[in-house]
Amino acid sequence: MKQYRPDDEVDFLIIGAGASGGIMAKQLSTAGFSVVVLEQGPYLREKDFEHDEIKNTVLSGMTNHLARQPHTYRTSDSETAKVPNQKFIQYGRQVGGGSVHFTANYWRLWESDFRQKSKWGGVQGASLADWPITYADLEPYYTKAEEELGVSGLAGANPFEAWRSKPYPLPPLPIKSSGVLFERATRKLGLHPFPAPMAILSQPYRGRGAPPPPQYAGHRHSHCRENRPLRNSPELLHPQNRNQLGRTCDRRHLLRRRPPRSVPARQGRSCLR
Ligand SMILES: Cc1cc2nc3c(=O)[nH]c(=O)nc-3n(C[C@H](O)[C@H](O)[C@H](O)COP(=O)(O)OP(=O)(O)OC[C@H]3O[C@@H](n4cnc5c(N)ncnc54)[C@H](O)[C@@H]3O)c2cc1C
Repeated sequence: MKQYRPDDEVDFLIIGAGASGGIMAKQLSTAGFSVVVLEQGPYLREKDFEHDEIKNTVLSGMTNHLARQPHTYRTSDSETAKVPNQKFIQYGRQVGGGSVHFTANYWRLWESDFRQKSKWGGVQGASLADWPITYADLEPYYTKAEEELGVSGLAGANPFEAWRSKPYPLPPLPIKSSGVLFERATRKLGLHPFPAPMAILSQPYRGRGAPPPPQYAGHRHSHCRENRPLRNSPELLHPQNRNQLGRTCDRRHLLRRRPPRSVPARQGRSCLR
């Protein structure tokens, strides 16, 4: 990665190497612009991750710290904004931002999400508005993002999802025992269980990893060390890292319990998260 001196002029300065800042940096720099990204948090390496939700989240190990990154709030214009006693805004504080430790659910919005005001009417005292764009405007970008990240899912399995121009690039993550039970129970209730789209590789993808069966416990806040979601910014900013991705998730302790024999693991039938 190119380094700049403080007095070098660049085309773009991006503050925050989170999910969107990292992608902006990648798109702009591959289009030939010079880009500097300023990130307040560290660049974490594999050795820096611990499977410890208390440390990572409650004690702000991987998230914003109220004393060092204070946020304020007020309920009306006439009040003075205060720092709260506990944080109510939480975000990932490292290169990659929230994408480093997020749950990796990768949902698209529904078409109706873009016109909530037209659909339901306004809310008194609130500034509810329809989006100025539609699902159709965003659809090509959803598809591109899913392809670049390597999202695992089963197109059409969710009878309520919006139309899509392409299937997911990867098949859904394998089901585990509790997912099978969940699927059976919800089908009995007349519901529609389906594999959730996840930004975690279910197969090797574009040079990223050749994993043993992927293992994912639906736990968040800890970062899946291996076979992990693509941490948008770190991997996109450091293309050399991309070949190292996609092994077995660190959360395997939750999955050592084998599914009951009568409930075999199946692919693409249901999911946990
Ligand atoms: C615990 C958790 C679980 C989540 N799970 C999911 C999920 O499963 N699916 C999903 O789609 N979304 C999930 N999200 C939300 C998702 O992570 C965010 O929507 C996404 O990361 C937002 O991207 P962003 O680029 O706007 O901000 P962020 O990814 O938060 O990035 C902001 C970056 O800016 C940096 N920064 C902030 N201020 C400064 C400053 N003054 N100077 C320098 N750097 C600065 C921060 O350190 C951070 O790295 C989750 C979020 C959290 C916190």
